[in-house]
Amino acid sequence: MTEFYLDANAGLPLRAEVAAEWQRVASQAAGNPASLHRAGRRAQGELERAREVVAASLHCASRELVFTSGATEACNLALLGMVRGRAALTGKKQQLLASHAEHPAVLGPLRVLQQEGHRLFLLPIDADGRVDRAALAKALHEQAWDLLAMQWANNETGAVQPIELLADQLPSDTLWFCDSVQGFGKLPFDPALQRADSFVLSGHKFQAPHGIGAWVMREHVFFEAPITGGGHQGGRRPGTESPELAAALALALSLACAEQPEQERSWLHFGADLQAAVLEAFPETVLHHPADGPRLANTYNFGFPGLDGRMLLPALDAEGLAVSAGSACSSGSPEPSAVLLAAGVSEELARASLRISLPPAWNSEQAQLANAALLKTLHRVYEVANR
Ligand code: PLP
Repeated sequence: MTEFYLDANAGLPLRAEVAAEWQRVASQAAGNPASLHRAGRRAQGELERAREVVAASLHCASRELVFTSGATEACNLALLGMVRGRAALTGKKQQLLASHAEHPAVLGPLRVLQQEGHRLFLLPIDADGRVDRAALAKALHEQAWDLLAMQWANNETGAVQPIELLADQLPSDTLWFCDSVQGFGKLPFDPALQRADSFVLSGHKFQAPHGIGAWVMREHVFFEAPITGGGHQGGRRPGTESPELAAALALALSLACAEQPEQERSWLHFGADLQAAVLEAFPETVLHHPADGPRLANTYNFGFPGLDGRMLLPALDAEGLAVSAGSACSSGSPEPSAVLLAAGVSEELARASLRISLPPAWNSEQAQLANAALLKTLHRVYEVANR
């Protein structure tokens, strides 16, 4: 059976040139980059070359860039380290601001910090999963915050957050941590990120191998490393680095950034066809992704009123369609999406919602076959619901 990935996280093969780069470094520079012998120096050379390439795409200095195993690790290290560091420096519990749109990789460490006695306030989000601008402005006006955690774009609804406001409105002594995972490869680089004190990305979002991410940490931020060990990467993330994963990440990121404008045009084209087909067949469908305003061109989130949400994913899977409900990272869980619930969607509709994220290099034939299979499955699941 043909399988279609309406989930940009699923089943994407490594690009041939990225796999070749991984293989080249793994075979030619197999040493431990921390070792002082020749093999170690070769590995160190590859690692630092990759760091420079990634730093150029992220518009940061290479000494600000730390390689991690992915974004969850980076979000935890950054948030725990920044907040605990500042608390130690000031001798005070910290005031933390975030929103309900944040990914569990961000909300998790924020909850840990809350349990340690720091105060956490979560801003409301609108029906598209976008941080409420007025609530953000009010919160920034009313009190001083030690740290704001605000993502670049939401992985479930595709809403791009109003990060451009932060360049003007965020006081210079408030730290800003940005989960920018969903932006790279999907949006042009946003200069607002240059105001961020820390931001992260995850390789598997743009066809680098799993298990590699990058984390930007500005040098002026006082940081208390949450994990200890050898002094790798300035002690910020102790542990032996992987030059081959770093090299594959560097190439995949460069390619994704270079191809982003064309890729975005293609997603908008196929996404418009998908949305039109769904709405024509099921006019009662609720769009949870933004109808207008800045958004990720590959991310669509449809709510199907009256449909039994528990049947959706297995029925689609049986048809060869890999789709996610809620965050892919927690899609093993039967819980409805926390972001949709915070956006005001009922629990029943949140359960009967599908997030579709179009993969890169989608073509007309794949789009037609996948759309037809999606509609066929939805008709069948609706038939069962109406029996
Ligand atoms: N943040 C966002 C917005 C994500 O979409 C994801 C993963 O889907 C993560 C963080 C976690 O990234 P990783 O899978 O690299 O740990």
